[in-house]
Amino acid sequence: MSSSTTEKFEFKAEIKQLLDILVHSLYTSREIFLRELISNSSDALDKLRFQLNKGTEVYQKDLPLEIRISLDKDKPQSGEYSKTITISDTGIGMTKEEIISNIGTIAKSGTSEFLKMLKENNVTANNIIGKFGVGFYSVFMVAKEVIIKTRSYRLDAKAVEWKSDGLGEYELKEIDEELPRGTKIEIKLKDDAHEFCEKYRIESIIKKHSNFISFPIYLENEKINTISAIWREPKSSISQNQYNEFYKFLTYDNEDPLFVIHKSVDAPIQFNSLLFIPKKSDEFFWFDRENYGLDLYVRRVLIQHKNKDLLPEYLSFVKGVVDSEDLPLNISRETLQENVIFSKISQNITSQVLNFLAETSKNSPSEYVTFWKEHGKIFKLGYTDFSNTDKFLELIRFNSSFNQNKDELTSLAEYVSRMKAEQKEIYYAVGQSREGIELDPHLELFKDKGLEVLYLYDPVDEIIVTSLRKYKDYEFKSVESVEPAKLEKFESQTDKEKIEELSGDDKMHFSSLLTKMKKILGDKVEDVKQSYRLTTSASCLVSKDGGLSSTMNKILRMTNKEFNPQKKIMEVNPNHKLIRNLLKLFKNNSDDKFIADVTEQLYESALLLEGNLDDPHKLVTRLNKMLEQASEWYLELHQVSQSNHNMSQGEKLN
Ligand code: ADP
Repeated sequence: MSSSTTEKFEFKAEIKQLLDILVHSLYTSREIFLRELISNSSDALDKLRFQLNKGTEVYQKDLPLEIRISLDKDKPQSGEYSKTITISDTGIGMTKEEIISNIGTIAKSGTSEFLKMLKENNVTANNIIGKFGVGFYSVFMVAKEVIIKTRSYRLDAKAVEWKSDGLGEYELKEIDEELPRGTKIEIKLKDDAHEFCEKYRIESIIKKHSNFISFPIYLENEKINTISAIWREPKSSISQNQYNEFYKFLTYDNEDPLFVIHKSVDAPIQFNSLLFIPKKSDEFFWFDRENYGLDLYVRRVLIQHKNKDLLPEYLSFVKGVVDSEDLPLNISRETLQENVIFSKISQNITSQVLNFLAETSKNSPSEYVTFWKEHGKIFKLGYTDFSNTDKFLELIRFNSSFNQNKDELTSLAEYVSRMKAEQKEIYYAVGQSREGIELDPHLELFKDKGLEVLYLYDPVDEIIVTSLRKYKDYEFKSVESVEPAKLEKFESQTDKEKIEELSGDDKMHFSSLLTKMKKILGDKVEDVKQSYRLTTSASCLVSKDGGLSSTMNKILRMTNKEFNPQKKIMEVNPNHKLIRNLLKLFKNNSDDKFIADVTEQLYESALLLEGNLDDPHKLVTRLNKMLEQASEWYLELHQVSQSNHNMSQGEKLN
């Protein structure tokens, strides 16, 4: 019988690029090629088991499901003798078409993400390769040549042979020889990779990266891996170390997990779950959105890797496995979501995680802070999970005016426990930093009355408080929109310098000054009014009752160029030195140009503080002009006192 002709194919550009990186810039992580090949074999075996469970007719259906590795220190291959490692499995195998589309293109999102990471970030492949499943091609880190012989599980398929040196092309042919079902990969090792032909070395790599593969792995006929589904074992029989090892196997993380949540649920549905919360938030999370989810098993059989519906997205930092007793083995991935048992499991797991976090926040607050600092950013997106709003509100944290520094955190429960007797609202202020917020004039009244204010730095924080509206019976209220009159019931706690109230006459002039200021600012503000909230600042901008906050305005403006920020009310503090001086000027000449300059300046400075000033040019020009004037006055003052000084000296001399 003659074999069919050999065809030559070229690798896609993306693969050439990957190969180039794998072959030329990686030295320290080469051993992971074995993890990748074993994991491919394990996937192929999982897929085969899935077909068997569905009742599909499978070629050589009685072959045991296993992975075998053999080492040959002197194997003739392509006319040469060389050191060879061979990995074979009895999985689903591949047809010719499958091998072209699977091995000829980059299927895995992780691989393209890996390439993108290398391009966009200043990292070297060596640093990060272990974290990605770079797949089959990693074999060329150690191989001079690779031959794949594969026989699909489909009854009428033909065996195929694929061969490449990883330099740019591969050869493919169908073979007539009867091969056992599955895939066999022969790797002719490079001269500097002979260590991978040593049994002790391979054994230790398997133990390190592939110990929990759920099919037996034989190395030279000796079984190496432990294959226990540790999530089905009783908690008491598993050591922390086993948990840690399993976690690392599952996630490729090289650190131990922060938390382990291991549960066995019996009623009303039966399942085991072993979940982990990593120490570090996944640095690639935001652009590797596919890379999350829990592995779903049904009675030890893997049904789906990284299932994304077992947990809501805001808990996507959770890793682990779930194994159900009740789901049918042949359930298709497409119909999972509509399955009642599945949705019960997913609700139960979500509660498990939230309850665990609630307990941790009570029993080990400092560990909870570690969790919050790493994963809080993603967790906050949970404000949309309306079925768990109460739990969510107990778990979120903010920095607050009662904290000593920007790193301390406050829960809403703590805030409420510190509230004043008559306080009915939870106050918050929005800004980019603690320093920034503390300079916000709106806070002056709250400081004065000793009222605690939550500091919201993250744009999503404000979305949370505005969309959830309240915690228990207490409404969230922005300091910008609180009417000072409503705070009158709280007593001032600071000794304010007593400033003489404006006299009757001056009161009238002050009110005309406000009218003047409104005229100067025109349409830019809704109104100019006397302030009852300011103690140290001259003026501030406030929203109309129920208006949008300044950050909301800013967000809307960023997302929609046409958006016109809502007009605000400018409040002016009659007891401020600057305003008193302005009043004197105003009484002298109500059209004094200086009044207009100061009014514009106060308005634009307030916008600047809010982050809503579009064009700083006018403000800076005006400011510089004023500085120039001020410097002249200062100089004059200085010279006057100089001459006074000289004079008094002179007088003494006389
Ligand atoms: P990944 O496994 O991440 O998808 P790989 O490059 O490692 O990426 O493999 C590409 C594809 O080749 C796999 O998705 C699978 O379809 C196929 N494949 C690889 N190894 C095997 C194997 N041992 N048996 C069957 N199919 C395989």
